[in-house]
Amino acid sequence: MSGTAAQGPRLRPSLDGIPTYRPGKPAGADAFKLSSNENPYEPLPGVLEAAVVAAGSFNRYPDMAVGELTAELARRFDVPAEHIATGPGSVGVAQSLVSSTAGPGDEVIFAWRSFEAYPIITQVAGATPVPVPLTAGEEHDLDAMLAAITPRTRLIFVCNPNNPTGVAIRRDELVRFLDAVPGDILVVVDEAYREFLRDEQVPDGVELYRDRPNVCVLRTFSKAYGLAGLRIGFAIAHEPVATALRKTAVPFGVSQLAQDAAVASLRAEDALMVRVEALVVERARLREALLAQGWTVVDSQANFVWLRLGERTTEFAEACTAAGVIVRPFPGEGVRVSIGEVAGNDIFLATAEAFRKTL
Ligand SMILES: *Cc1c(COP(=O)(O)O)cnc(C)c1O
Repeated sequence: MSGTAAQGPRLRPSLDGIPTYRPGKPAGADAFKLSSNENPYEPLPGVLEAAVVAAGSFNRYPDMAVGELTAELARRFDVPAEHIATGPGSVGVAQSLVSSTAGPGDEVIFAWRSFEAYPIITQVAGATPVPVPLTAGEEHDLDAMLAAITPRTRLIFVCNPNNPTGVAIRRDELVRFLDAVPGDILVVVDEAYREFLRDEQVPDGVELYRDRPNVCVLRTFSKAYGLAGLRIGFAIAHEPVATALRKTAVPFGVSQLAQDAAVASLRAEDALMVRVEALVVERARLREALLAQGWTVVDSQANFVWLRLGERTTEFAEACTAAGVIVRPFPGEGVRVSIGEVAGNDIFLATAEAFRKTL
């Protein structure tokens, strides 16, 4: 036996730069969890029932082709079924997108701050993250993102609206950007919060993808549909991108519970719309109240609001925890607060009001 055995298996050095996931402090039983952009509502009508039926056969593997859901999505978006690829959450699909396009030496561009998963899945693939700072107005700096393109660029994430700021990119700007990106670079338009959009000048990624072979749209059932715990999301992309996604996906990665719950959710659209609208109304109420308190609040098109608190971020988050609401701090930058139950939102507003007086 060689003397090196005691050192253990050699792991890829590229993993060293990846932060280890630290689970958030568990919210006490009576605290409101406004830290993960989850849907505060109970399952939509028919969804729990569908999941319970599916649970009766979880000794079996799920439908690997995800046939019923794929057919339903294809009809709904008027796209070929071959253009749809599902996965364990849209993060799972995003990971497949990166591993389908980028490896060591390749670059993945995204705005920053944006969705935390982007740099992680890029590094897991061994590729190099290229974060491009948001503008002072918390917008994607699309010109700077274009300028960051090199011969090694393989994929660009565009998070629309952006997590954690909620700011959305409008049609003219996004079209101009897409027209300027070389056709051999995949642009992934992540629309995790699409259902919460109310700005009509923000384009539907599905319309943008139709005549652009290098554009892929990411959607999820985790946020508006309330299936975060079941792990299911999907991409709409042209061949050969969609085929590559099916090749790189974890086999049987989407459970039958998730598949059947997603189908039932799509069929409960009316109830979904009522809930989403209530959250949008609540979002407007929070923004108005925060503006009245004197905060600068960008126009969020998602199910959260963003407060840029800089050095006071951690302190603010601690004040929220003490008051009974768990928010999401990004130390040194700001706090993202998900729109939740009215009672939780009210506690957050009261905490923000008191804190504002100390600034
Ligand atoms: C929450 C979120 C997702 C969805 O993640 P799932 O894996 O589908 O739960 C994807 N993109 C962004 C920007 C998000 O905020």
